[in-house]
Amino acid sequence: MTIMTVSKTLLEEAKALLGELIAFETVSSASNLDMIAHLARHLQESGADVEILHDETGTKANLFATIGPRKDGGIVLSGHSDVVPVLDQDWTSDPFRMEERDGKLYGRGTCDMKGFIAAAVAMAPFYAALNPTRPIHFAFTYDEEVGCFGGQALANSLKELGLKPAVAIVGEPTSMRIIEGHKGCYEYTTRFTGLEGHGSGPERGVNAVEYAVRYVSKLLELKSELQARAPKESRFDPPWTTINTGSLVGGVAHNVIPGKAQIEWEMRPVQRSDADHVKSVLAAFCDEELLPQMRAVCPDAGIETEIIGEVDGLEPVDQNEARDIVMELTGANGADLVPFGTEAGIFQGLGMNVVVCGPGSIEQAHKPDEFLEVEQLSQCLAMLGRLSHKLV
Ligand SMILES: [Zn+2]
Repeated sequence: MTIMTVSKTLLEEAKALLGELIAFETVSSASNLDMIAHLARHLQESGADVEILHDETGTKANLFATIGPRKDGGIVLSGHSDVVPVLDQDWTSDPFRMEERDGKLYGRGTCDMKGFIAAAVAMAPFYAALNPTRPIHFAFTYDEEVGCFGGQALANSLKELGLKPAVAIVGEPTSMRIIEGHKGCYEYTTRFTGLEGHGSGPERGVNAVEYAVRYVSKLLELKSELQARAPKESRFDPPWTTINTGSLVGGVAHNVIPGKAQIEWEMRPVQRSDADHVKSVLAAFCDEELLPQMRAVCPDAGIETEIIGEVDGLEPVDQNEARDIVMELTGANGADLVPFGTEAGIFQGLGMNVVVCGPGSIEQAHKPDEFLEVEQLSQCLAMLGRLSHKLV
């Protein structure tokens, strides 16, 4: 990787801004409005056009900013403003007051992922000074850590605005490696309501546990079917979409027909079509087989599936302008896959070319004494500095 020297002032500015961002305790359960307002001020002073897009509660907001002409085809620098909690973690120093020790910046969110946000915002005045012909956007979201809800809201806002950027760089911590793919993560809770009764008369009740077990065996069937559906060139590990039944609970005692049962399960799709397939097979199985049998005994019996989260994967694609750009900027000669999820799939779902590439290591994310190496921040600034050439 070629290293461009980053001016000392730029690095100091990014560090100072990162310190300010760490001081906002934006755990996902709290409001992120103060941090968003702070970023908005910085970006506006740099000459960006800033929009703050609130959620329906008014306590959270996404920020979407533009430098350059308001037109399609721009490049998005994307990051989430929320961080995971520090409860029950043993920290050497205050997690919400950034400290530099031995070339490392410590604090909650330094690597995941306020470091990237600070670097991007520190670059804003330089981008603005170029009077770019290709727009550059800043997209900072809420609630990524709890299910990418802000990212999904931002996708809707972009559709409403009728704006179609072409490229997104999602700055999750990859140690500045280029990531072109990760699986999706879809989590569900499926609840079965049957009819309780005495164990001696099974035909007079609707055994919720038995219906749940039949549902799990359908999941097992799908699980092996999905192996055969793995894309030929898949580099994922394992190469196919996986399904996991994480929990099955129901019933009270040996001699009672259980009236309630619940399954918690997830799938990690390598392609959106797999997820659609699983959902339609399960819907047909419930509607055509399980529910008619349950309701023949008890009309109120039912099966409800609650969506806990549906985070789309990032599917590796042959043509990817984001990958080409970032490979050129970093001198990397390839792109990898990672096992963790990001907002990248949401941007890909909008038709954009996307990579994940950001400073710091995922090893440090979510842990006590989370840190970002100053060297990583410097490499990120160098990459973003070279991005200038793509804007004019
Ligand atoms: Zn993150």
